[in-house]
Amino acid sequence: MSYTHIFAGNPLDRGDVERRDEQLLRDMVWQDNAKFLPFHKLNPLILKKQQAELAWINNEFLKEFPGGTSNRTFLGFDTERTPYFAVDVSRIENPSDILKFAEQVDFEDGRSAAASITNEQSGILAQARSNLNWHIQNRFCSVCGTESESQRGGLMRECHSCKTQHFPRTDPVAIMLVYKGEQCVMGQTLARSNSTFYSCLAGFMDQGESIEEGVRREVREESGLEVGKVTYHSSQPWPFPSSLMIGCHAEAISDEITSDPGEMSDVRWFTKEDVKLALEDKLDGVNIPGPIAIAHHLIKAWAYETNK
Ligand SMILES: [Zn+2]
Repeated sequence: MSYTHIFAGNPLDRGDVERRDEQLLRDMVWQDNAKFLPFHKLNPLILKKQQAELAWINNEFLKEFPGGTSNRTFLGFDTERTPYFAVDVSRIENPSDILKFAEQVDFEDGRSAAASITNEQSGILAQARSNLNWHIQNRFCSVCGTESESQRGGLMRECHSCKTQHFPRTDPVAIMLVYKGEQCVMGQTLARSNSTFYSCLAGFMDQGESIEEGVRREVREESGLEVGKVTYHSSQPWPFPSSLMIGCHAEAISDEITSDPGEMSDVRWFTKEDVKLALEDKLDGVNIPGPIAIAHHLIKAWAYETNK
């Protein structure tokens, strides 16, 4: 069984050959069929219909706001070779000026938008949001401090002073459901203290660390538990701002939990019966992540012994 989580499943052909041709990229922007997805402060423009959609607009707005758009990313082509772009319009003084280029549209938070658009569109949203954010955060060369320039349609920035090429980063996060027999471990981070929200343990991978080592270290740090077998389940891009969630099941070889008070407000064992109730939102005092998050699917796969 393979999973295509929300924020994966992007159908666009990213056009690796075409994006290396800077003149072609400039020309494609002015093609009649070119489509643009505006972002205001990283919130995408959304068509508010019963089935919400990403709100693509044509290039008319570029003529009206020549100085109002900063970063522009080439996302790729659909099967008709229509070019798709994402554009940061945060410099436009009044973002509502963009709304006149389409009907029933508004800027919406990426998380809530992802829950209402199709999986394929959420994949495009992930690519666009992560890339625009990277350009906002990396305007200047980290070697010499000169302002660098976006190239390859946004897949690289080059410093013309010291010639260093900079590439967009993706931050791997290990996320794992720890289990032993008929019990599993879920925790509550300090940010969720005093709430009813429990989820899988998770943490950023360190440099020079395999996925298995990252899983074992994070579990040890957050719960004090030792892990033996680590099994990969699936992965999910998470564009807030640019993580890749690497979902695993991790078999504990010890029992006693000692949670890290600097990071976790609670970590505890749950029975499989309780987890099944929580998945149906019927466990008193405990809420777990919904289907938008990979954690939900890791928990469900263990509870129902599918693809573990
Ligand atoms: Zn430089």
